[in-house]
Amino acid sequence: MECIFCQIAKGQQEADVVFENDQIIVFKDINPKASVHLLIVPKKHIKSINELEEQDKDLIAQMIFLAKDLAIKHEIAKSGYRLTFYVGRGGGQTVDHLHLHLMGGGEK
Ligand code: AMP
Ligand code: ZN
Repeated sequence: MECIFCQIAKGQQEADVVFENDQIIVFKDINPKASVHLLIVPKKHIKSINELEEQDKDLIAQMIFLAKDLAIKHEIAKSGYRLTFYVGRGGGQTVDHLHLHLMGGGEK
């Protein structure tokens, strides 16, 4: 079966989507660790930071700028937030499709 985040990106699997454009989809983490816990996900299937290529530079930059905008929109910019990439099993990654965690507004 296809990867869960690819399925969400294609609209084949339900998710609480808060932002979408041609290249990126953002949805609420199903098991939130903070009041605001969003996953910023490129629609292109990249396994992890380990598989990033030179051509993905702009995509990664877009993800980070989007995180900044979403932090403002979700009113956690001033109080502060975490942006996290887990890489590989030893790094705590469980879904093998690149994603950036945006977490803030207090632990849950
Ligand atoms: P990690 O690979 O450790 O960065 O974690 C993957 C994250 O995806 C976890 O925080 C999960 O709660 C979350 N997650 C897994 N499946 C879904 C889903 N179908 N919808 C939303 N979030 C999910
Ligand atoms: Zn995928």
